[in-house]
Amino acid sequence: GTNKENVQELDTISEKPGVGNRILVFVRLRPMAKKEREAGSRCCVRIVNRGDVYLTEFASEHDYLRLKRLRGRHFTFDASFPDSTSQQEVYSTTTAELVEAVLQGRNGSVFCYGATGAGKTYTMLGTVENPGVMVLAIKDLFNKVRQRSFDGNHVVHLSYLEVYNETVRDLISPGRPLVLREDKQGIVAAGLTQYRAYSTDEVMALLQQGNQNRTTEPTRANETSSRSHAILQVAVEYQVKDESNNVVNRVGKLSLIDLAGSERALATDQRTLRSLEGANINRSLLALSSCINALVEGKKHIPYRNSKLTQLLKDSLGGACNTVMIANISPSNLSFGETQNTLHWADRAKEIRTKVHLPRFSILQLHSFSLLPRLTCLS
Ligand code: ADP
Ligand code: MG
Repeated sequence: GTNKENVQELDTISEKPGVGNRILVFVRLRPMAKKEREAGSRCCVRIVNRGDVYLTEFASEHDYLRLKRLRGRHFTFDASFPDSTSQQEVYSTTTAELVEAVLQGRNGSVFCYGATGAGKTYTMLGTVENPGVMVLAIKDLFNKVRQRSFDGNHVVHLSYLEVYNETVRDLISPGRPLVLREDKQGIVAAGLTQYRAYSTDEVMALLQQGNQNRTTEPTRANETSSRSHAILQVAVEYQVKDESNNVVNRVGKLSLIDLAGSERALATDQRTLRSLEGANINRSLLALSSCINALVEGKKHIPYRNSKLTQLLKDSLGGACNTVMIANISPSNLSFGETQNTLHWADRAKEIRTKVHLPRFSILQLHSFSLLPRLTCLS
Protein backbone atom coordinates (compact mmCIF):
# COMPACT_ATOMS: atom_id res chain seq x y z
CA GLY A 1 0.00 0.00 0.00
CA THR A 2 1.01 3.60 -0.44
CA ASN A 3 1.55 5.92 2.47
CA LYS A 4 0.14 9.25 1.27
CA GLU A 5 2.43 11.32 3.49
CA ASN A 6 5.39 9.79 1.78
CA VAL A 7 4.24 10.76 -1.65
CA GLN A 8 5.82 13.87 -3.10
CA GLU A 9 3.79 16.35 -5.05
CA LEU A 10 4.47 15.99 -8.71
CA ASP A 11 7.31 18.33 -9.53
CA THR A 12 7.30 19.97 -12.89
CA ILE A 13 10.19 19.06 -15.08
CA SER A 14 11.18 21.78 -17.46
CA GLU A 15 12.32 19.64 -20.31
CA LYS A 16 12.41 21.44 -23.59
CA PRO A 17 12.87 18.87 -26.30
CA GLY A 18 15.42 19.94 -28.83
CA VAL A 19 16.87 22.62 -26.63
CA GLY A 20 20.04 21.00 -25.44
CA ASN A 21 22.45 21.59 -22.68
CA ARG A 22 25.97 20.54 -23.45
CA ILE A 23 27.65 17.86 -21.42
CA LEU A 24 29.96 19.10 -18.69
CA VAL A 25 33.60 18.22 -19.10
CA PHE A 26 36.14 18.09 -16.29
CA VAL A 27 39.81 17.21 -16.21
CA ARG A 28 41.52 15.57 -13.26
CA LEU A 29 45.29 15.50 -12.99
CA ARG A 30 46.68 12.79 -10.74
CA PRO A 31 49.86 13.13 -8.67
CA MET A 32 53.17 12.03 -10.20
CA ALA A 33 53.67 8.34 -9.45
CA LYS A 34 56.82 7.04 -7.79
CA LYS A 35 57.59 4.95 -10.88
CA GLU A 36 57.30 8.00 -13.13
CA ARG A 37 59.54 10.05 -10.87
CA GLU A 38 62.13 7.28 -10.78
CA ALA A 39 62.07 7.13 -14.57
CA GLY A 40 63.15 10.76 -14.54
CA SER A 41 59.92 12.16 -15.88
CA ARG A 42 59.00 15.81 -15.70
CA CYS A 43 55.60 17.35 -15.28
CA CYS A 44 54.11 18.49 -18.60
CA VAL A 45 50.71 19.63 -17.34
CA ARG A 46 49.87 22.85 -15.56
CA ILE A 47 46.50 23.71 -14.16
CA VAL A 48 45.94 27.42 -13.78
CA ASN A 49 42.91 29.02 -12.16
CA ARG A 50 40.07 26.61 -12.13
CA GLY A 51 39.51 25.52 -15.67
CA ASP A 52 42.67 26.10 -17.70
CA VAL A 53 44.95 23.24 -18.59
CA TYR A 54 48.29 23.83 -20.27
CA LEU A 55 50.04 20.92 -21.89
CA THR A 56 53.67 21.64 -22.54
CA GLU A 57 56.72 19.54 -22.99
CA PHE A 58 59.13 22.41 -22.60
CA ALA A 59 58.02 25.12 -20.21
CA SER A 60 59.64 24.59 -16.83
CA GLU A 61 58.72 26.16 -13.53
CA HIS A 62 61.67 28.46 -14.16
CA ASP A 63 60.17 29.59 -17.48
CA TYR A 64 56.87 30.16 -15.84
CA LEU A 65 58.32 32.29 -13.09
CA ARG A 66 60.46 34.23 -15.56
CA LEU A 67 57.85 34.79 -18.24
CA LYS A 68 54.87 34.95 -15.90
CA ARG A 69 52.93 33.03 -18.48
CA LEU A 70 52.67 29.53 -19.75
CA ARG A 71 53.52 28.21 -23.15
CA GLY A 72 52.09 25.14 -24.80
CA ARG A 73 48.67 23.97 -25.80
CA HIS A 74 45.88 25.48 -23.82
CA PHE A 75 42.49 23.93 -23.06
CA THR A 76 39.57 25.22 -21.02
CA PHE A 77 37.09 22.99 -19.22
CA ASP A 78 34.16 23.41 -16.86
CA ALA A 79 36.65 22.77 -14.10
CA SER A 80 40.09 21.25 -13.96
CA PHE A 81 41.29 19.52 -10.83
CA PRO A 82 44.93 19.83 -9.79
CA ASP A 83 46.64 16.80 -8.25
CA SER A 84 45.87 18.01 -4.74
CA THR A 85 42.10 17.80 -5.25
CA SER A 86 40.27 15.55 -2.81
CA GLN A 87 37.80 12.85 -3.79
CA GLN A 88 35.06 14.81 -2.02
CA GLU A 89 35.84 17.93 -4.04
CA VAL A 90 35.72 15.98 -7.30
CA TYR A 91 32.42 14.42 -6.26
CA SER A 92 30.83 17.72 -5.17
CA THR A 93 31.78 19.54 -8.34
CA THR A 94 31.02 16.86 -10.90
CA THR A 95 28.28 14.62 -9.55
CA ALA A 96 26.39 16.04 -6.54
CA GLU A 97 23.90 17.95 -8.70
CA LEU A 98 23.25 14.83 -10.77
CA VAL A 99 22.32 12.91 -7.62
CA GLU A 100 19.89 15.68 -6.74
CA ALA A 101 18.38 15.46 -10.23
CA VAL A 102 18.06 11.67 -10.00
CA LEU A 103 15.89 12.17 -6.92
CA GLN A 104 13.63 14.24 -9.16
CA GLY A 105 13.31 11.45 -11.68
CA ARG A 106 15.96 12.61 -14.12
CA ASN A 107 18.74 10.49 -15.55
CA GLY A 108 22.38 11.30 -15.13
CA SER A 109 25.67 9.79 -16.12
CA VAL A 110 29.29 10.36 -15.31
CA PHE A 111 32.04 8.74 -17.24
CA CYS A 112 35.78 8.64 -16.70
CA TYR A 113 37.91 8.65 -19.80
CA GLY A 114 41.69 8.40 -20.13
CA ALA A 115 44.71 6.18 -20.65
CA THR A 116 45.48 3.21 -18.41
CA GLY A 117 47.00 4.42 -15.16
CA ALA A 118 45.59 7.94 -15.52
CA GLY A 119 43.33 7.62 -12.46
CA LYS A 120 39.91 6.53 -13.76
CA THR A 121 39.31 3.74 -11.25
CA TYR A 122 40.71 5.85 -8.43
CA THR A 123 38.23 8.59 -9.36
CA MET A 124 35.25 6.27 -9.75
CA LEU A 125 35.79 3.59 -7.12
CA GLY A 126 38.67 4.95 -5.04
CA THR A 127 40.05 3.11 -2.04
CA VAL A 128 38.58 2.20 1.34
CA GLU A 129 40.33 5.25 2.89
CA ASN A 130 39.53 7.54 -0.03
CA PRO A 131 36.28 6.38 -1.60
CA GLY A 132 35.54 7.70 -5.07
CA VAL A 133 32.56 9.10 -6.94
CA MET A 134 30.57 5.83 -7.02
CA VAL A 135 30.65 5.46 -3.25
CA LEU A 136 30.25 9.16 -2.44
CA ALA A 137 27.27 9.39 -4.80
CA ILE A 138 25.50 6.51 -3.10
CA LYS A 139 26.31 7.86 0.35
CA ASP A 140 24.92 11.24 -0.64
CA LEU A 141 21.88 9.64 -2.19
CA PHE A 142 21.03 7.70 0.99
CA ASN A 143 21.56 10.86 3.09
CA LYS A 144 19.30 12.93 0.86
CA VAL A 145 16.61 10.28 0.92
CA ARG A 146 16.80 10.14 4.73
CA GLN A 147 16.88 13.93 5.26
CA ARG A 148 13.70 14.39 3.32
CA SER A 149 12.10 11.50 5.13
CA PHE A 150 11.28 9.91 1.83
CA ASP A 151 12.24 6.58 3.41
CA GLY A 152 9.93 3.87 2.39
CA ASN A 153 8.95 5.80 -0.69
CA HIS A 154 12.33 5.75 -2.39
CA VAL A 155 13.70 2.37 -3.40
CA VAL A 156 17.31 2.12 -4.52
CA HIS A 157 18.50 -0.62 -6.85
CA LEU A 158 22.05 -1.17 -8.03
CA SER A 159 23.50 -3.01 -10.93
CA TYR A 160 27.17 -3.30 -11.78
CA LEU A 161 28.31 -4.67 -15.11
CA GLU A 162 31.35 -5.00 -17.30
CA VAL A 163 31.86 -4.84 -21.04
CA TYR A 164 34.94 -6.84 -21.96
CA ASN A 165 35.78 -8.01 -25.43
CA GLU A 166 32.25 -7.07 -26.59
CA THR A 167 30.77 -9.30 -23.91
CA VAL A 168 28.54 -7.98 -21.14
CA ARG A 169 28.96 -9.54 -17.68
CA ASP A 170 27.25 -9.06 -14.36
CA LEU A 171 29.80 -7.97 -11.75
CA ILE A 172 27.47 -8.57 -8.78
CA SER A 173 26.58 -12.16 -9.69
CA PRO A 174 29.15 -13.23 -12.25
CA GLY A 175 27.99 -15.93 -14.59
CA ARG A 176 27.13 -16.31 -18.22
CA PRO A 177 27.40 -13.33 -20.54
CA LEU A 178 24.30 -11.15 -20.70
CA VAL A 179 22.31 -10.34 -23.81
CA LEU A 180 21.33 -6.74 -24.58
CA ARG A 181 17.71 -6.12 -25.36
CA GLU A 182 15.74 -3.07 -26.30
CA ASP A 183 12.60 -2.33 -24.30
CA LYS A 184 10.47 0.73 -23.50
CA GLN A 185 13.11 2.08 -21.14
CA GLY A 186 15.90 1.69 -23.67
CA ILE A 187 18.65 -0.88 -23.94
CA VAL A 188 18.76 -3.32 -21.02
CA ALA A 189 21.00 -6.26 -20.18
CA ALA A 190 18.62 -9.19 -19.76
CA GLY A 191 18.98 -10.97 -16.41
CA LEU A 192 21.26 -8.34 -14.86
CA THR A 193 21.10 -8.39 -11.04
CA GLN A 194 19.12 -5.49 -9.60
CA TYR A 195 20.43 -5.37 -6.06
CA ARG A 196 18.23 -3.63 -3.53
CA ALA A 197 20.54 -1.51 -1.39
CA TYR A 198 19.88 -0.17 2.11
CA SER A 199 23.19 1.25 3.31
CA THR A 200 26.46 2.74 2.09
CA ASP A 201 28.73 0.24 3.85
CA GLU A 202 27.01 -2.62 2.16
CA VAL A 203 27.41 -0.89 -1.19
CA MET A 204 31.11 -0.21 -0.68
CA ALA A 205 31.69 -3.92 -0.04
CA LEU A 206 29.58 -4.82 -3.05
CA LEU A 207 31.57 -2.52 -5.32
CA GLN A 208 34.95 -3.73 -4.07
CA GLN A 209 33.79 -7.29 -4.62
CA GLY A 210 32.41 -6.39 -8.04
CA ASN A 211 35.67 -4.77 -9.02
CA GLN A 212 37.50 -7.96 -8.16
CA ASN A 213 35.19 -9.72 -10.56
CA ARG A 214 36.38 -7.48 -13.41
CA THR A 215 38.27 -9.41 -16.06
CA THR A 216 42.02 -9.38 -15.59
CA GLU A 217 44.70 -9.29 -18.25
CA PRO A 218 46.21 -12.77 -18.68
CA THR A 219 49.66 -11.20 -18.76
CA ARG A 220 49.15 -9.01 -15.74
CA ALA A 221 47.75 -11.32 -13.10
CA ASN A 222 45.81 -9.64 -10.30
CA GLU A 223 45.50 -6.38 -12.18
CA THR A 224 42.12 -5.31 -13.45
CA SER A 225 42.14 -5.16 -17.16
CA SER A 226 42.79 -1.95 -18.97
CA ARG A 227 40.38 -3.28 -21.59
CA SER A 228 37.30 -3.60 -19.46
CA HIS A 229 34.57 -0.97 -19.15
CA ALA A 230 32.67 -1.00 -15.83
CA ILE A 231 29.21 0.53 -15.47
CA LEU A 232 27.46 1.05 -12.14
CA GLN A 233 23.82 1.92 -12.47
CA VAL A 234 21.80 3.27 -9.56
CA ALA A 235 18.06 3.38 -10.08
CA VAL A 236 15.89 5.32 -7.66
CA GLU A 237 12.22 4.54 -7.83
CA TYR A 238 9.59 6.58 -6.01
CA GLN A 239 5.99 7.63 -6.22
CA VAL A 240 4.39 10.98 -6.95
CA LYS A 241 0.86 12.23 -7.41
CA ASP A 242 -0.08 13.47 -10.83
CA GLU A 243 -2.60 16.25 -11.68
CA SER A 244 -5.54 13.92 -11.14
CA ASN A 245 -4.16 12.81 -7.76
CA ASN A 246 -3.23 9.39 -9.07
CA VAL A 247 -0.09 7.85 -7.66
CA VAL A 248 2.46 7.25 -10.37
CA ASN A 249 5.90 5.65 -10.27
CA ARG A 250 8.95 7.62 -11.23
CA VAL A 251 12.48 6.34 -11.82
CA GLY A 252 15.69 8.33 -11.94
CA LYS A 253 18.83 6.56 -13.08
CA LEU A 254 22.43 7.44 -12.41
CA SER A 255 25.12 5.67 -14.44
CA LEU A 256 28.73 5.82 -13.34
CA ILE A 257 31.14 4.55 -15.93
CA ASP A 258 34.81 3.58 -15.63
CA LEU A 259 35.92 3.23 -19.26
CA ALA A 260 38.72 1.04 -20.58
CA GLY A 261 42.09 2.66 -21.24
CA SER A 262 41.75 5.04 -24.16
CA GLU A 263 45.25 4.27 -25.51
CA ARG A 264 43.88 1.07 -27.06
CA ALA A 265 41.53 3.03 -29.23
CA LEU A 266 44.42 4.23 -31.34
CA ALA A 267 47.22 1.73 -30.92
CA THR A 268 46.37 -1.88 -31.54
CA ASP A 269 48.87 -4.38 -32.80
CA GLN A 270 46.76 -6.64 -35.00
CA ARG A 271 49.48 -9.30 -35.03
CA THR A 272 49.41 -10.00 -31.32
CA LEU A 273 47.72 -13.11 -30.05
CA ARG A 274 44.98 -11.02 -28.56
CA SER A 275 44.26 -9.19 -31.77
CA LEU A 276 40.60 -10.11 -31.68
CA GLU A 277 40.28 -8.76 -28.20
CA GLY A 278 42.21 -5.67 -29.23
CA ALA A 279 39.97 -5.16 -32.22
CA ASN A 280 36.93 -5.40 -30.01
CA ILE A 281 38.23 -2.83 -27.57
CA ASN A 282 38.99 -0.75 -30.56
CA ARG A 283 35.43 -1.25 -31.62
CA SER A 284 33.93 -0.04 -28.35
CA LEU A 285 36.07 3.02 -27.92
CA LEU A 286 36.14 3.84 -31.61
CA ALA A 287 32.36 3.50 -31.63
CA LEU A 288 32.26 5.91 -28.71
CA SER A 289 34.46 8.32 -30.68
CA SER A 290 32.18 8.01 -33.73
CA CYS A 291 29.10 8.67 -31.61
CA ILE A 292 30.73 11.71 -30.04
CA ASN A 293 31.67 12.99 -33.50
CA ALA A 294 28.16 12.41 -34.84
CA LEU A 295 26.59 14.10 -31.81
CA VAL A 296 28.96 17.06 -32.07
CA GLU A 297 28.13 17.46 -35.74
CA GLY A 298 24.41 17.25 -34.98
CA LYS A 299 23.94 14.23 -37.26
CA LYS A 300 20.54 12.55 -37.39
CA HIS A 301 21.96 9.05 -37.29
CA ILE A 302 24.17 8.28 -34.32
CA PRO A 303 25.89 4.86 -34.68
CA TYR A 304 25.09 3.50 -31.21
CA ARG A 305 24.59 -0.01 -32.57
CA ASN A 306 28.25 -0.41 -33.48
CA SER A 307 29.29 -1.67 -30.05
CA LYS A 308 27.96 -2.98 -26.75
CA LEU A 309 29.38 0.02 -24.94
CA THR A 310 27.63 2.59 -27.10
CA GLN A 311 24.34 0.67 -26.95
CA LEU A 312 24.54 0.77 -23.17
CA LEU A 313 25.53 4.45 -23.18
CA LYS A 314 22.87 5.50 -25.67
CA ASP A 315 20.70 7.16 -23.01
CA SER A 316 23.72 8.73 -21.40
CA LEU A 317 25.06 10.41 -24.49
CA GLY A 318 22.15 11.48 -26.59
CA GLY A 319 19.07 10.97 -24.51
CA ALA A 320 17.30 12.96 -21.83
CA CYS A 321 20.21 12.79 -19.49
CA ASN A 322 22.59 15.08 -17.62
CA THR A 323 26.01 13.93 -18.71
CA VAL A 324 29.38 14.59 -17.12
CA MET A 325 32.74 13.51 -18.47
CA ILE A 326 35.84 13.36 -16.31
CA ALA A 327 39.05 13.12 -18.32
CA ASN A 328 41.87 11.65 -16.25
CA ILE A 329 45.47 12.51 -17.03
CA SER A 330 48.96 11.78 -15.75
CA PRO A 331 51.35 14.70 -15.19
CA SER A 332 54.35 12.89 -16.65
CA ASN A 333 55.94 13.89 -19.96
CA LEU A 334 56.33 10.13 -20.61
CA SER A 335 52.54 10.10 -21.16
CA PHE A 336 52.53 13.27 -23.27
CA GLY A 337 50.92 11.64 -26.32
CA GLU A 338 48.17 9.96 -24.33
CA THR A 339 47.46 13.13 -22.37
CA GLN A 340 47.24 15.16 -25.58
CA ASN A 341 44.82 12.60 -26.97
CA THR A 342 42.66 12.63 -23.86
CA LEU A 343 42.55 16.43 -23.75
CA HIS A 344 41.68 16.53 -27.45
CA TRP A 345 38.69 14.22 -26.92
CA ALA A 346 37.60 16.00 -23.79
CA ASP A 347 37.73 19.29 -25.69
CA ARG A 348 35.59 17.79 -28.43
CA ALA A 349 33.08 16.34 -25.97
CA LYS A 350 32.31 19.87 -24.76
CA GLU A 351 30.35 20.37 -27.98
CA ILE A 352 27.85 17.57 -27.33
CA ARG A 353 24.34 18.81 -26.56
CA THR A 354 21.95 16.71 -24.52
CA LYS A 355 18.23 17.10 -24.21
CA VAL A 356 17.75 18.23 -20.62
CA HIS A 357 18.76 21.15 -18.51
CA LEU A 358 20.60 20.64 -15.32
CA PRO A 359 18.60 22.51 -12.69
CA ARG A 360 20.20 25.22 -10.57
CA PHE A 361 23.63 24.25 -11.69
CA SER A 362 26.51 26.61 -11.29
CA ILE A 363 30.11 25.58 -11.33
CA LEU A 364 31.13 28.82 -9.68
CA GLN A 365 29.00 28.13 -6.65
CA LEU A 366 30.05 24.57 -6.42
CA HIS A 367 33.74 24.37 -6.21
CA SER A 368 36.09 25.96 -3.87
CA PHE A 369 39.39 26.34 -5.64
CA SER A 370 41.58 29.30 -5.04
CA LEU A 371 41.06 32.15 -7.48
CA LEU A 372 44.79 32.69 -7.71
CA PRO A 373 46.78 31.05 -10.48
CA ARG A 374 48.03 27.78 -9.23
CA LEU A 375 50.82 25.55 -10.31
CA THR A 376 50.81 21.86 -9.66
CA CYS A 377 53.63 19.35 -9.49
CA LEU A 378 55.98 21.77 -7.80
CA SER A 379 57.51 19.05 -5.70
P1 ADP B 1 43.18 3.74 -14.38
O1 ADP B 1 41.95 3.19 -13.76
O2 ADP B 1 42.92 4.98 -15.19
O3 ADP B 1 43.97 2.73 -15.14
P2 ADP B 1 44.02 3.99 -11.63
O4 ADP B 1 42.84 4.69 -11.09
O5 ADP B 1 44.14 2.54 -11.36
O6 ADP B 1 44.16 4.25 -13.20
O7 ADP B 1 45.31 4.78 -11.11
C1 ADP B 1 46.64 4.33 -11.27
C2 ADP B 1 47.39 4.49 -9.95
O8 ADP B 1 47.47 5.86 -9.56
C3 ADP B 1 46.73 3.76 -8.81
O9 ADP B 1 47.70 3.20 -7.98
C4 ADP B 1 45.96 4.85 -8.07
O10 ADP B 1 45.80 4.57 -6.71
C5 ADP B 1 46.85 6.07 -8.29
N1 ADP B 1 46.07 7.32 -8.37
C6 ADP B 1 45.30 7.70 -9.40
N2 ADP B 1 44.74 8.90 -9.19
C7 ADP B 1 45.15 9.30 -7.98
C8 ADP B 1 44.92 10.47 -7.17
N3 ADP B 1 44.13 11.47 -7.59
N4 ADP B 1 45.54 10.54 -5.98
C9 ADP B 1 46.33 9.55 -5.55
N5 ADP B 1 46.60 8.43 -6.24
C10 ADP B 1 46.01 8.29 -7.45
MG1 MG C 1 41.18 1.23 -14.03
